[in-house]
Amino acid sequence: MSRVVGVLALQGAFEAHQHVLRELGFETVQVRTPAELELVDALVMPGGESTTMSHLLVTSGLFESIDARLKQGMPVFGTCAGMILLAQGVLDGRSDQKSFGAIDIDVKRNAYGRQIDSFETDIAVDGFVDDFHAVFIRAPQIARYGDGVTVLARHGQDVVLARQGSVMVASFHPELTSDMRIHSLFTGLLQEV
Ligand code: GLN
Repeated sequence: MSRVVGVLALQGAFEAHQHVLRELGFETVQVRTPAELELVDALVMPGGESTTMSHLLVTSGLFESIDARLKQGMPVFGTCAGMILLAQGVLDGRSDQKSFGAIDIDVKRNAYGRQIDSFETDIAVDGFVDDFHAVFIRAPQIARYGDGVTVLARHGQDVVLARQGSVMVASFHPELTSDMRIHSLFTGLLQEV
């Protein structure tokens, strides 16, 4: 059966995700409205600016529709700002910033100081034979994670890739390299639902 993977396209780095999903053989659509959300079986929330995305999610009416789909178990993959949107708690969020609380983690948006705003490093990912080259751009940090969360990768002490049920999050940008293994891990969740 053909499955459609949506990419939240309100703001941020959504096109690179679509490119990877197409390479993996999936149909992909940009999601900006509740009607477009109805077309998809799974959703990627890209990097960008979580405060802006939060605002646009509310004004577009998508916040409520995505929330409902998440409660029904739709697979979702949040990268960077997308991870912030899916978190239970945002420790240094703006007061009007909303998140879905879909995964039991608390995040710090601006945890990495200005001097290391962006960096690249190889990380070991659970189940991968070779390391994954991870690109971090003003990356959020997972400051706490609950018992139900499975850690898939760390950078030093920090958890940088994690999963709880059909929700996967990465603090880095896997769409910016030609290595498709992390997207493949995510699309694998579609087989489980
Ligand atoms: N720090 C950004 C935020 O708060 C996230 C950065 C990113 O997505 N590359 O949304």
